Amino acid sequence: MTAERVLAGLDPEQRTAVTAPAGPVCVLAGAGTGKTRAVTHRIAYRAATGEISPRHVLAVTFTARAAAEMRARLAGLGAAGVQARTFHAAALRQVRYFAARLLAGRGMPELVESKARLVGLAAARAGVRVDRSGARDLAGEIEWAKSSLVEPGEYAVAAAKAQREPPHEPAKVAEVFAAYESLKRRQGVIDFEDMLRAAVWGIEEHPDVAEQIRAQYRHFVVDEYQDVNPLQQRLLEAWLGGRDDLTVVGDASQTIYSFTGATASYLIDFPRQRRGAVVVRLVRDYRSTPQVVGLANAVIRQARGSEARLRLELVGQRPPGPEPALKIFPDEPAEAAAVARRCRELLAAGTPASEIAVLFRTNAQSEAYEEALAEAEVPYVVRGAERFFERPEVRGAMVALRAAVRSTPGDTPLVDAVVEALSATGWVRDRPPAGGAQREQWEALAALVTLAEEYAAAPELVPVGDAAAVQRDVSLAAFCDELARRADQQHAPTVEGVTLASLHSAKGLEWDAVFLVGLAEGTLPTTYAKTPDQVEEERRLLYVGVTRARQWLWLSYGQSRSPGGRARRPCRFLPQLDGTGGPERARPPGSRKPDRRPPRVVSCRICGSTLLAGADRKLGRCATCPSDLDEELYERLKLWRATAAAEQKVPAYVVFTDAT
Ligand code: ATP
Ligand code: MG
Repeated sequence: MTAERVLAGLDPEQRTAVTAPAGPVCVLAGAGTGKTRAVTHRIAYRAATGEISPRHVLAVTFTARAAAEMRARLAGLGAAGVQARTFHAAALRQVRYFAARLLAGRGMPELVESKARLVGLAAARAGVRVDRSGARDLAGEIEWAKSSLVEPGEYAVAAAKAQREPPHEPAKVAEVFAAYESLKRRQGVIDFEDMLRAAVWGIEEHPDVAEQIRAQYRHFVVDEYQDVNPLQQRLLEAWLGGRDDLTVVGDASQTIYSFTGATASYLIDFPRQRRGAVVVRLVRDYRSTPQVVGLANAVIRQARGSEARLRLELVGQRPPGPEPALKIFPDEPAEAAAVARRCRELLAAGTPASEIAVLFRTNAQSEAYEEALAEAEVPYVVRGAERFFERPEVRGAMVALRAAVRSTPGDTPLVDAVVEALSATGWVRDRPPAGGAQREQWEALAALVTLAEEYAAAPELVPVGDAAAVQRDVSLAAFCDELARRADQQHAPTVEGVTLASLHSAKGLEWDAVFLVGLAEGTLPTTYAKTPDQVEEERRLLYVGVTRARQWLWLSYGQSRSPGGRARRPCRFLPQLDGTGGPERARPPGSRKPDRRPPRVVSCRICGSTLLAGADRKLGRCATCPSDLDEELYERLKLWRATAAAEQKVPAYVVFTDAT
């Protein structure tokens, strides 16, 4: 492709980034402004002008899918052969290649199979009692330390400095961390962070390796640079070896991995750190409708943090579309059922399933949506997590219950029947139990068997699942049948379907229709977000979610988790939810006596999008178009929305930018 063709379809600022001479380039911009497009085109442009060869480019992205997409886009732009990889994949490849030379003929160590399990063992060594989720917390803390280049002996001081909330006494965490490291060494396995460290070590300590790698890679690109951690940055520096042909793009408002040690400071400091850096800001949002852009601006405008001064309001470029809708349901199952119904409608209206996504805060939320979509016969794919009924512990539990149903009194003891059935699945490997995680499995198993024994003794006394779903027959056998039926439905093979994904795994991606579900306090922000920094990260997650939508955006939450459960408050980051500017803001004091007449629906005089205007037909303004605003009208709109929302009269969710 010619250089001119590569430049076509870029705006002037994007062109500045694309055509900048060799050297440091930094694109700082909000979601959907074409950062990824700019870096891809920069590589293609430089290849087309003959300035660089694609095979000398190393482009680092955040997920394997993003890397694959970048390779495909580059091939389409005539720049095939670029190495587009995640940090891990790039490191793995290099370590594999140099392993024989660096490790004196020993092969490359295996990756640790289950980190949480090994951490559990390490915890036992250090005298810390943890269950499976406790082990996961510790594993997360160790991951943070290693990604932040913190050694066990430095952990306590570093954790205090970073205002971490360690799962145990810092000295204990350090002990577990040290025990984990030595267990790994003894078993001859490594984890992901070790792999990056090995790549760094290979280059820093071995001049011949450094020379070979630096001869291969001469031009570097990092997408989503706001989420780079110190270990990855060190690897990047090792690759560069003092050279500066580096293009980074990122959005500090989308930093969502700081719990693993990522920090936007490398992005923010880039212009100061790299002499002569070309810095480009983009504000035109090409992805989303002005309505979605307006909501995104409103969500992030309140953000606090070091990146705030860099933030520029996004300006929507696309034609107006439907208003984002906020829906409130009595509970989560009702919410999931409504989402599934809406998905069906979208599909029936011609939206391809691959253009629809349901995004949630935690993978545990996935189950309700898997079930509801299966029930509604909507095909779906789960990203970055196993389907509920395919998770080993769920399969194990089902097998155990089925075995309990089949065992007859006086026959083999129930526990034996269950264990036998489980051994066949590989879920329980050996009898008798061995240490650590195995013991935990056995404890879970014992609890399950006790439960099954209770059923066997008095089936009528034990409520099984949701009584409505197994209304006629509440026996354990019927419950197992029902489970099997649901598992079967979910097994329907789907090559293409509605995407179910966590907000974390959705970054960089886009869909025509996006459902952001579970927007309630306790879920988003999660109860685990305690420090102000952690709460801010939750806000950025919502911003990432909102900005994934091109056209339709549906925000929702169930007032309680399960039917009849405790009521939850709406997510505090939702602006304008109650007309007072969201739960975080108070009503301005001394506002005039309100006019309660409903406003009329008119169009924005600038971009034509649907608006609510006063009864006297004065125009308001839409979320993105600048125009003077009539203060009185604005107050009335807010008030009317507050009352109408309270009475559930307004289905749509209209957002105004000047809500301060
Ligand atoms: P994110 O922060 O979410 O990663 P981004 O800044 O990387 O977003 P892109 O994914 O590069 O944004 O672009 C968003 C969408 O806008 C894509 O569909 C892209 O093709 C389109 N786009 C980008 N720049 C332009 C342009 N100049 N003209 C038309 N469409 C564009
Ligand atoms: Mg991007």
